[in-house]
Amino acid sequence: MMDRELERAYQATYRANNQAAIASQRAAYREANRDKVSGQNAAFRSAHREERAAASRAYALAHPGAVQAYQRRYYLSHRADLIAAASEWARTHRPEANAASNRRRARVRDNGVFAITARDWRRILQRHRQACAYCGRSGVPLQQEHVIPIARGGRHSVGNLVPACQPCNGSKGSKLLVEWRYLVIPGGSFMDIHGRDEELR
Ligand SMILES: [Zn+2]
Repeated sequence: MMDRELERAYQATYRANNQAAIASQRAAYREANRDKVSGQNAAFRSAHREERAAASRAYALAHPGAVQAYQRRYYLSHRADLIAAASEWARTHRPEANAASNRRRARVRDNGVFAITARDWRRILQRHRQACAYCGRSGVPLQQEHVIPIARGGRHSVGNLVPACQPCNGSKGSKLLVEWRYLVIPGGSFMDIHGRDEELR
């Protein structure tokens, strides 16, 4: 083995055998150099802001339930501080606070921003016996389908969501139910007769 590899192997063994001692040395260093360490951390965070933001977005997309659960726990355990900080901010930033509150009200009114948790979605699936709400097929991947499409003013809310298989979801698209005339064929498949109907006319 090369010297460097030997050295590396030795260090790995040392670290494995002395984990507690190393951790307490590090904690002592951090404690003695608190300003320096927090300055270094802040510098690292600001130098890698983009990557860090992209990584958290990717994580949130891949783990929607986990992130919501974490945010909820965080909110609950810091509720008083968060509310105090928010009202202090609103007091010192009146115009921005008013604008933000107007935007929020408009969003809720226009489109309904209601978070769907992983648990909500599991309940919806159970209610529909893990089957497509339109053609009744089960054992296929089920997508979140907005009965009243978001593009048509529907809300992203528990009351407006059903499971749908990809063909149904894709065929219905942003049509309302009354516009999407479909035919469920006994045995599980379905036919979108919307297009054919148009042709016959
Ligand atoms: Zn279907």
